[in-house]
Amino acid sequence: MQRGSRNPEGMCRLCLQVGQLQRSHLLPAAVYRRLDPGNNRHVVVTNSKCYNTSRQVTAHLLCRSCEQRLNRKGEQWVLKNGFRGQGNFPLQSTLQRSPIKGRTSSGEFFAGAGLPGVDMDQLCYFGASVFWRASTHRWPDSNYIDLGHKYVEEFRRFLNGEAGFPANAVLVIYICDAGKTKEAAIFPFGGRVRKGSFHEYRLILPGMLFILAVGQRIPGHLKLLCSAHSTERLIFLSSRVQELQTFELRDLLADNEMAGTLALSGFPTRKL
Ligand SMILES: [Zn+2]
Repeated sequence: MQRGSRNPEGMCRLCLQVGQLQRSHLLPAAVYRRLDPGNNRHVVVTNSKCYNTSRQVTAHLLCRSCEQRLNRKGEQWVLKNGFRGQGNFPLQSTLQRSPIKGRTSSGEFFAGAGLPGVDMDQLCYFGASVFWRASTHRWPDSNYIDLGHKYVEEFRRFLNGEAGFPANAVLVIYICDAGKTKEAAIFPFGGRVRKGSFHEYRLILPGMLFILAVGQRIPGHLKLLCSAHSTERLIFLSSRVQELQTFELRDLLADNEMAGTLALSGFPTRKL
């Protein structure tokens, strides 16, 4: 580390070159601004406690060029087209006026590949980048996920433009179909699927749910839904986003200790 330098020197986790490392974030700063209760405050829920903060989860991980790459290839598009506040959710609006490919018990799905206003490459790149970041570093205030060395490296190569989307990975993308979006995010979480031979991880953002499965024996029905590999690049408009958000938050909060001002605020019963 260079003395006196704001940014330390080190090896960039993405391009593997040594240089000045930027302060990287696990989730884009703009996501935090859209979290309840607003005014630059949000509630952090970990495995053991909940508290109110304005602090973002950051670490020195990537060089400037790689930060810009992640920004340009996924983050900017998702922030521009994702949930931007109640009544302003461009991607949801686009899907609502697009031709439906099919229906499921929880909503509808679309062939994202041919839809104007939907960029599946940007969506997949963004989702992959957050799961990769979550697995390549132990972030504070966050549940650590471990994709395993093989998949961390495969996703690194994909994100760095050295390889395609990993063959033994499936990414399914759900967009919230509700008129009012729940302003809550859950950092990537998950692990081995019970009795399964693969691993499944989830990332929940306001209005969006990303599910990533990795492993040699991912079930065929899950592979068909993949936003990265399927020919039609499927994307879902579904009630699953809100349902899972509510379910997971209840689960996380059930055994947690409320800390700081949150303990006095009545959270979360007024919200869930
Ligand atoms: Zn780099």
